Amino acid sequence: MDYFELHKRYKANSLFGRYITLNDVEPLLANLSTQIIGESVLGKPIYKYTVGTGKRRIFMWSQMHGNESTTTKALFDFFNLIHSDDELGVKILSEFTFCFLPMVNPDGAELYTRENANKIDLNRDSVNLSQPESQLLRQTFNDFQPDFCYNLHDQRTIYGAGDNGNVATVSFLAPSYNEQREINEVRSKAMNVIVAMNEELQKHIPNQVGRFDDGFNLNCVGDSFTYFNVPTILFEAGHFENDYHREFTRKMIFIALISGLKHIYENDIVNNKNEIYLLIPQNNTVFYDFIYKNVKINYDGKKIITNFAAQYKEELIDGTIQFNAYIAEIGDLKGKFGHYQYNAHKMMYSDDNDSIPKIDQKADFCLGNDIKIVNGLKK
Ligand SMILES: [Zn+2]
Repeated sequence: MDYFELHKRYKANSLFGRYITLNDVEPLLANLSTQIIGESVLGKPIYKYTVGTGKRRIFMWSQMHGNESTTTKALFDFFNLIHSDDELGVKILSEFTFCFLPMVNPDGAELYTRENANKIDLNRDSVNLSQPESQLLRQTFNDFQPDFCYNLHDQRTIYGAGDNGNVATVSFLAPSYNEQREINEVRSKAMNVIVAMNEELQKHIPNQVGRFDDGFNLNCVGDSFTYFNVPTILFEAGHFENDYHREFTRKMIFIALISGLKHIYENDIVNNKNEIYLLIPQNNTVFYDFIYKNVKINYDGKKIITNFAAQYKEELIDGTIQFNAYIAEIGDLKGKFGHYQYNAHKMMYSDDNDSIPKIDQKADFCLGNDIKIVNGLKK
């Protein structure tokens, strides 16, 4: 199957970039028979969309972390596919009944924060259920009684798949249901779907699929749903080379969704592929957005050669997300990789302040007489 062509055909073109709010998705939701199941802390509607006639029930929710919008974009692309007369779309709707919460945290989406308006991380609220958004998610889970849950997120650019310098463009997790991280039939079902998605993704992003740490925390939604005996899959949409808008990664999520669903309806008998799941490299924090090597610094009158790193902060300014680079670490940086790397070949560092790189200072500086770095990048 030509997934790239399929995605091109069904992409929800009005959604672009990282800042996706309720204002962006409401015009698209207006075309669907949705239900408003409740309100966020700040009174924004939370939409539920149920569709399909199949026997397998899948519950998917996105953007419970407000600034994690890539999977939301992929969901709307997927909606276009299943609403088309495309054979695959028709097949999927006959095999599954879906329940979607496309934006669990609309306040966080608006504010571009991980947390909700009460500054609570909804993915650590699964025991307390202290927030209206958490309660709505749980209530929907209880009412719908899914066979599978898809917990859709974004991850930061810092993650590698393993520690060899391959970025984790997509990561997955079959969450634990107990402290011992045992594998039961429920977890195994989730692992099998992940193995199928990974197999397809390897054709497009070889070695760039990671596996998240499975430390047990019942406060996390995925862990609690697995504990309630429903196979749950955590999706983490990550970085791809130069794709800070995550438009390529969006396509990878679309492909993962379809290949995973195909696996489910084509394989009624569960083959145990836990071992293959465990071969997917673990997510490691090995990346910075920028690394500068062999930089000469005048440190207390002594000249030293060092490396340093900078990292983007995504800042919401006047309704747009700005990527602003700040110095994040200075030192050897052993085992670290930069999405952008610059070898200064012992050129002298200078800036408008004390001419010493400092943590949290903007990444605006000069190297030697000629090289000017502005917001992390060589001018
Ligand atoms: Zn998240």
